[in-house]
Formats: sequence, structure tokens, C-alpha cells
Amino acid sequence: MSREEERAGEGREGEVLRGVGKGTLSVWAGETDEFPYGATVPPVVHGVTFAYDDMAEWEGVALGKLEGHIYSRNTNPTVSIFEEKMRRLEGAEAATSFSSGMAAISNTLAAILKAGDRVVAIRDTYGGTNRIFHDFLPRQGVEVALCDTTDFEALEEEIGKGCRILYLESPTNPTLKVLDLPRLARAGRKAGAVVVVDNTFATALNQRPLEMGAHLVVYSATKFIGGHSDAMGGALCGEADLVRQVFEYREITGASLAPMSAYLLIRGMKTLELRIERQNRNAMTVARFLQDHPGVDEVFYPGLESHPGHELARAQMDGGYGGVLSFSLKGDGEEVDRFLGRLRLAHRAASLGSVGTLAGPPRTTSHVELTAAERARAGIPESLIRYSVGIENQEDLLADLAQALKDR
Ligand SMILES: *Cc1c(COP(=O)(O)O)cnc(C)c1O
Repeated sequence: MSREEERAGEGREGEVLRGVGKGTLSVWAGETDEFPYGATVPPVVHGVTFAYDDMAEWEGVALGKLEGHIYSRNTNPTVSIFEEKMRRLEGAEAATSFSSGMAAISNTLAAILKAGDRVVAIRDTYGGTNRIFHDFLPRQGVEVALCDTTDFEALEEEIGKGCRILYLESPTNPTLKVLDLPRLARAGRKAGAVVVVDNTFATALNQRPLEMGAHLVVYSATKFIGGHSDAMGGALCGEADLVRQVFEYREITGASLAPMSAYLLIRGMKTLELRIERQNRNAMTVARFLQDHPGVDEVFYPGLESHPGHELARAQMDGGYGGVLSFSLKGDGEEVDRFLGRLRLAHRAASLGSVGTLAGPPRTTSHVELTAAERARAGIPESLIRYSVGIENQEDLLADLAQALKDR
């Protein structure tokens, strides 16, 4: 976990970065000390193992009593910089990292849960997470109660029956449902649960679940955090003892973030605030445009006053409503294929949160493992398109959408 707990708020870094904004933290956190040769960007330390001439120092580092690195499955200097940025942005006691978002989620669940435990979660979690809840955890003797995502009373009732982990995600994929995070975190804490929130869609720029009562925040850093679709990674931020428990599990399972990926994520993070501000604005403009378009049936974006989660989102998302929206087209499934085929300024691809706009239907992206009937039951229209807005100029995105929707 890069021993940030001990460093928190101390030394030169603590002094330089006390009270600074998130844009400054994204650039400087973990980087206030000079790098070798006076380099102004972090070195990619590919070294797997770290040498010591002084046996006492080696032992001290190995036992976690001194700062330093032993072996890159455990900690690595480049990876530590990424973790420090995540920790500071989230305002967390500690942070650790993983090879992907799913590694962060699966290691967190596995490190905390044991047979006989119970998990309460929402039905609309990310597809991979949902698979863990449906297939993997029950096989290991963990009971999973999945509730209707926006039925907060039902959730509170399930939480009240007792659970080891309360697992939440907001806004959700692909219809951008919004959870009442403070309310549910309160119920989770009252029941003695560890409250975990997947904050991938919002990022710390728009929403900070730890300030609303969560114990842990998990991330796919592959999305907005890295922001360029060129590196996979995951992160976990939160209370030091819980993060350490997961870190010690990850040290052994080996789902560690690679130094080159950490470097790409660090580089991406330097423009995080700029990107998120732009993507928030672009998404809002695109959502309004689509809402008024006669060829569009329904638009799902928490920034729209018509969205059922708008009031909640306004209260708990202080930066903006994020860069992902979805919308359904009037007509049948063929309309979707025609529309997607016409888009020019969008990659027809899975994933989200990149500088370039990404678009696709849930049947090939977030909900590929469901049948058409199951998607209907989950409230996902067959003509739905998920649109993850990039940092392009908004007039160009609007023109592209207008031409793709032409004759409709
Ligand atoms: C993509 C995603 C994940 C999984 O992250 P990977 O980096 O692809 O493993 C988890 N949660 C959410 C909300 C995601 O969008």
C-alpha cells in the first residue's frame, strides 16, 4: 500500500500540498520530491527487485518498519505515485492499486469476506461485479442479496438483516440510476457492514463517497482516471486498516499494477480535472440535444431535470454529472445498427471515460452476458445506446449525432 498512511500530511509533500485543489493534486501528489537526475516526470521503475547493502535497513523495509521497496509484486516506486494521487484526490487515509478494476473489486471482496458471510448489493452493478455476486461468491459459501437498485427501503430492510459488506455503485451502468449514498451508507454502518462504493463513473472530481459515509471506494482506473484507453488498472481508497487488509491479500494473489501502466495512469491523471470538466459539459449538452430530438425516445442522464435521480445527483455530485449517458431510439434494433454505423466521431467499442467518444449498445458492451428477455427485465431497452462523451468540441459531437439521426 505504499505506506502512505505513515506519510499522510507529513514531510515536504504534506507541506506543499496542504489545502490545494484537485487539479493541483492530480499533477503534484506523489511527485513533490525530486526524481533521479532532476527528471521532472516520474521514472518508470521496471526493476522487479530492490537491493540493499545495509542488512538492517533491508530487514526494516521487509518488515514494513522503514519506507522502501523489496519486490514489485508488493510495492513499486512508480506504482506508489499513482496510489498517492488516488489517495489524495479521494481524501482517504490509504490507497492501494491493482492490475484492473475487476482485480480491485474481486480482491477487495475476497480479502474481507469468508464463508457464512452475507453481502447486500444492488442489481445494477457492473457486469463483471454482477458475475461475482451471481456465480463466484455463492460457490464460496457467501450469501448475496441483490436488491432493486433504486428501492432504498428494500435495501435498508436487507441491510438491517445484517451483512458483512454493503456494495454500491452510483451512477449505474447503463441507465445511470442514482443511489442515495449517505442514506445507504448510514444503514450499512448501523448494521456493522463495510460500505464499499464503485466510484468509476463519477470519479473524485464529481463525487466522494468517503465523505458520505463509505469505508472504501473502488475504481476501474482504466476508465476516466487514466482517460486514454491505453492502460488497465484499479484502485482502492479508504480506511487504513481495511486497505491494508486488502493490500496484504493482493500482495499474495499478485494482481499488482504494472509500472508501465502506472506511468500511463499517472500521465493521464495530470489532465483529470480538465477532462472531467469538459466531459461533464459535453455530456450535459449532448443529453439536452438528444432529449429534444424527435428520433430519440428516452435519454438517461442524471443531469437532466427529467431524470428520476436528478435531485439526489444534484445533492451528492458536486462537480457535475459525469461523461456517460445513454438513450433509446424510436424504432427497432435495426435503427440502432443504422445509427451506430453512421456515427463518425465515436469508436463503436466497449469501455468508457476516454478522451475519444465511445458508443455501443448494452447487448455488446455492459450487458453482453444477458439474454434479450433478461435485459428487458432489467429495464434496458433493446434500442439503448451508451454514449461515453470524449473531450471533442461539443458542436462537432452535436453535428455528428444530428447527421447520424437524420431522416428520423
Ligand atoms: C469497467 C468497470 C469495471 C471493471 O474495470 P476493469 O478495469 O475493466 O477491470 C468496474 N466497475 C465499473 C463501474 C466499470 O465501468
